[in-house]
Amino acid sequence: MEGKTIKFKLKKELILSYFLIAFICVTITGFTFNKLIKKEFEKYVLNLQKEKSEDIITRIKNQYKSEGQWDFEELQNIGIQALEKGFIISIRDSENRVLWDANMYSSFQCHSIISDFSQNMKNYYKDWNGGYVENEYLIKSDDYEIGALIIGYYGPFFYNDSDIMFLNTLKKVLLVVGLIALILAVLVGILIAQRISKPISMVIGTAEDISKGKYSTRIVHKSTIEELNNLIEVVNNMANALEENKYIQKKITADVSHELRTPLTTLQGNLEAMIDGLWEPTKERLTVCHEEIVRLTRMTSDLEKLSYYEGKELILNKSYFNIYEAIKTTLINFEKEFINKDLDVKLMSDSENLQIYADRDKLIQAVINILTNSIKYTNIGDQIIISLGKVKNGIEISIKDTGIGIARQDIPYIFNRLYRVDKSRTRATGGSGLGLTITKSIIEAHNGEIYVKSTLNEGTEFKIEI
Ligand code: ADP
Repeated sequence: MEGKTIKFKLKKELILSYFLIAFICVTITGFTFNKLIKKEFEKYVLNLQKEKSEDIITRIKNQYKSEGQWDFEELQNIGIQALEKGFIISIRDSENRVLWDANMYSSFQCHSIISDFSQNMKNYYKDWNGGYVENEYLIKSDDYEIGALIIGYYGPFFYNDSDIMFLNTLKKVLLVVGLIALILAVLVGILIAQRISKPISMVIGTAEDISKGKYSTRIVHKSTIEELNNLIEVVNNMANALEENKYIQKKITADVSHELRTPLTTLQGNLEAMIDGLWEPTKERLTVCHEEIVRLTRMTSDLEKLSYYEGKELILNKSYFNIYEAIKTTLINFEKEFINKDLDVKLMSDSENLQIYADRDKLIQAVINILTNSIKYTNIGDQIIISLGKVKNGIEISIKDTGIGIARQDIPYIFNRLYRVDKSRTRATGGSGLGLTITKSIIEAHNGEIYVKSTLNEGTEFKIEI
């Protein structure tokens, strides 16, 4: 619902902005263009009228010059042609006698010309202030005054019907172009709004789905806008992370209940048989029950540890300490196990004073977890070599055994919670499948790395880099 409202708002806003920008541009351009054209056209018409007046004078002068006297017929021709162009002329000789006069020729035509132009100009210009104007010119031939010419016209300038038509067409063209620009702006606005609002509404829809717990929802859309692509990627990544979390949570619950069920069923069966009197509560039977209880206790304690090491609250108490000394001391605690299995254990180091900056207790816990595995998954008489040394990014701790090794297909999973390669075998050895998960959490909390190399029946090497 909300998604739709936002989409609508964004679309409306974008289209409106585009329309407004286009409208402002079109209005400014149209207005300036109109003004400019009007001014230029006025100049052009004024010039043309001046040229026409000069042309009339020249023609009259030439007539006299070529014939040496006035030719009334030719003068009438010039006068009628001038009249057709909107000029009312009166030609006088040197004694001011009228040779030809437009008003005398057709006073009606003269009147209608002036009133037509007046009408045109008043229609075109709202505050037009013009009227009939007369200019008198002397006609000279070889410096002799041969007559005079009076040119009357509608001034200061006039537009004939085709001028008005030209100007009106231009106005219409401008209007149509402006209209097309506005329509285009709205179309572009719609297109862009669609390109922005579509992925945004998809993101909103997906986010809504995610908030309802549908973590498998993904946005399958490629936008041409980088920021929107980033937004889509972030939401998809968030969905991935949530889906993975949900899966892990489910898996842990299933795995833990599965792990708890087996010892509990054994305990229940054994105890019920003893209560019902089917079994004598012998020392051996009670020992089996006790072993199962010990296993359960160890597992719950491991789970507790894991939640502590994986939790956000894991605070590292870092200090500089001699890792060689720390591991040497730890090995003393395992001496009994080493002797029991006749293991040949070696500790090698670049230096007997190898300083490391880490949380001592937690790092030693990680080493103990690996070492316990090495003891568990080796055969009698095998070898364990612990080597320490400086590397480019700090200190490397390697714990290598010549034990049973891990099959290639199991290697990717050994750091997973509750993962045990051979469940029945490790049950006997007492593993919970949490040791390496805890180790990895500790190393990652130190921004370190842990790798494993292993070959079945040959041995395993764990490397920690901090
Ligand atoms: P567990 O408590 O079962 O030992 P871990 O998380 O410590 O659980 O180890 C996971 C699995 O990895 C083990 O069950 C075991 O099969 C395998 N593994 C770990 N270390 C070794 C090793 N040094 N040699 C052979 N297998 C090993």
